[in-house]
Amino acid sequence: MAPANGWPGSGAVLDSVSIPFAAGYVPMSQLEVVRIPVLNDNYVWLAHEPAQNLTAAVDPAVADAPLAEAERRGWAITHILNTHHHGDHTGGNREIKAATGCTIVGPRADRDRIPGIDIEVGDGDAYDFGNARAEVFDVPGHTRGHIAYWFAGSDALFCGDTLFLLGCGRLFEGTPAQMWTSLGKLRALPDSANVYCAHEYTQANARFAVTVDPANADLTARAAEIDRMRAAGIATVPGKLGVEKRTNPFLRADDAGVAATVGLAGGSPVEVFAEVRQRKDVFRG
Ligand code: ZN
Ligand code: FE
Repeated sequence: MAPANGWPGSGAVLDSVSIPFAAGYVPMSQLEVVRIPVLNDNYVWLAHEPAQNLTAAVDPAVADAPLAEAERRGWAITHILNTHHHGDHTGGNREIKAATGCTIVGPRADRDRIPGIDIEVGDGDAYDFGNARAEVFDVPGHTRGHIAYWFAGSDALFCGDTLFLLGCGRLFEGTPAQMWTSLGKLRALPDSANVYCAHEYTQANARFAVTVDPANADLTARAAEIDRMRAAGIATVPGKLGVEKRTNPFLRADDAGVAATVGLAGGSPVEVFAEVRQRKDVFRG
């Protein structure tokens, strides 16, 4: 497959990620998750549920690459899982549905902006994707209708543009307070969660993160590792949520060191989060 974009290593490498079960979870079916880089820096994920032979395209920005990858693996796309309405997450909806007859699952709160939506889900819903169950969270902030899918039995979090590795989505349709609450829902998940976000923004995020959390040794080391990975053309996503909790400044607005660094010692987490987000909006690394 031809590289779909300009950054190194994209397009050709489609490695799958093996995900262990969480102990005690039933019913269970182990999702196999495949990363597909498209456009400039988007990731479409294929999530395959082997027990019922289902395959979901998560946030298909485009149709051709996920259709081709599914076919190459002998899978048929049976579902689309959308996190939010932006075109780089839903652009392939209509074409994939026309080609496969798949079922499109998306946010109830944004039903009118999700092309071809069949099943609407929202906060607290359990969505059974075959034998793999997703818990759905409303995570407004980037957009007002953004949701996340948490497959506890597969340690898989599909969070779209809400949480990025070392970053978070821009606040196009929400307030800092909303986004801080949304990120809090995700931060409450286990450290072992695999974060399948929708963009390869990690290196740029790291350059900013070290400016607001300079004393964080875990972050400094991680930023160096990310530079090495990107120089070698290696994708940084997925990452582990436990690492995000220690190093992502947008999950650390209640950390005294971050607050002090942005001049808000003693400030509320929402105030600190708002300041960190604002600084990122204007940051030029
Ligand atoms: Zn978006
Ligand atoms: Fe996006």
